[in-house]
Amino acid sequence: MTDKTGRRLSISFEFFPPATPEGAMRLWRSVERLAPLAPDYVSVTYGAGGTTRDRTRNAIKAILERARLQVAGHLTCVGATRAETLAEADGYRRLGARRIVALRGDPPRGAERFEPHPDGFRNAAELTRALREAGHDRISVAAYPEFHPESASPAADLDNLKRKLDAGADSAITQFFFDNAHFLRFRDLAAKAGIDAPIHPGILPIENFAKMKRFAAGCGASVPESLETAYANADEQGMTETLSRAICAEQCDALRSEGVEHIHFYTLNNPDLPYDVCRALGVEPQPLGAAAGGAA
Ligand code: FAD
Repeated sequence: MTDKTGRRLSISFEFFPPATPEGAMRLWRSVERLAPLAPDYVSVTYGAGGTTRDRTRNAIKAILERARLQVAGHLTCVGATRAETLAEADGYRRLGARRIVALRGDPPRGAERFEPHPDGFRNAAELTRALREAGHDRISVAAYPEFHPESASPAADLDNLKRKLDAGADSAITQFFFDNAHFLRFRDLAAKAGIDAPIHPGILPIENFAKMKRFAAGCGASVPESLETAYANADEQGMTETLSRAICAEQCDALRSEGVEHIHFYTLNNPDLPYDVCRALGVEPQPLGAAAGGAA
């Protein structure tokens, strides 16, 4: 879509596969609420250690059957042979999912380091190359504005992103961040390193501040001191939702002013904040039956 000032914006939403009937209802409510915003695609995560393999596939199937949306299935290298991983990707394609988010995955809970399966892919670049060779052609990979916690240096992390794009990915989605300076610096460094594929910011609307801090600690995203203070004050006044809406809309708007044309929202299957933020950015709901993939 194009807003009143002529800036273009497309969006995508990430969901996780539900584990319970109540979770399935919540996922479905999220899809129903966000589908009218005509995202380019929605993506479904793949649980640590491959634990949600069947659930991811089932969620992809349900979304494709019930909503007119393009779907990206996440796929990791964890706990599976190369053949099993590629079979899963082929399964996504048979269901009608046209995109893949190719990842290495985190070590299973309790394990300190990622250990590849003896016959498995060792990293996301290897997985991406094999997916391309198997005919998958719309592949996104992960990028880290504050750098991946295991990377030897920022330069090594950028080399790794380049390897993944050279292996055949067509875009990257970032880990979430709250200070746009991290994203903008990363985007500049990537451009200097010769990376010209789109790097889409991954944005996490803050539904629950304490929970968000646990996520952030786990993935190396920093939380600015100013947010700590603002949420402590807002909590006392029962204003956290209002604050979250304002902070997220402002963060996205500032990114658009820096030329960002696609924003990927981590919804955690909570649709209301992403919905409100998109509306604040000028994304209009489309009539039912309008084609997915960004509205004019
Ligand atoms: P890689 O790109 O393979 O990199 C992993 C680390 O190894 C990096 O530090 C990299 O610099 C280093 N490295 C890789 N190759 C080399 C090499 N040849 N030489 C030296 N160093 C190397 N996790 C899930 O389990 N399920 C999901 O659905 C999921 N979705 C995600 C979606 C997004 C958008 C993002 C940003 C992350 C997601 N994750 C998910 C988390 C991700 O799996 C972890 O961050 C994981 O630790 C790294 O995955 P990667 O694909 O970035 O790995």
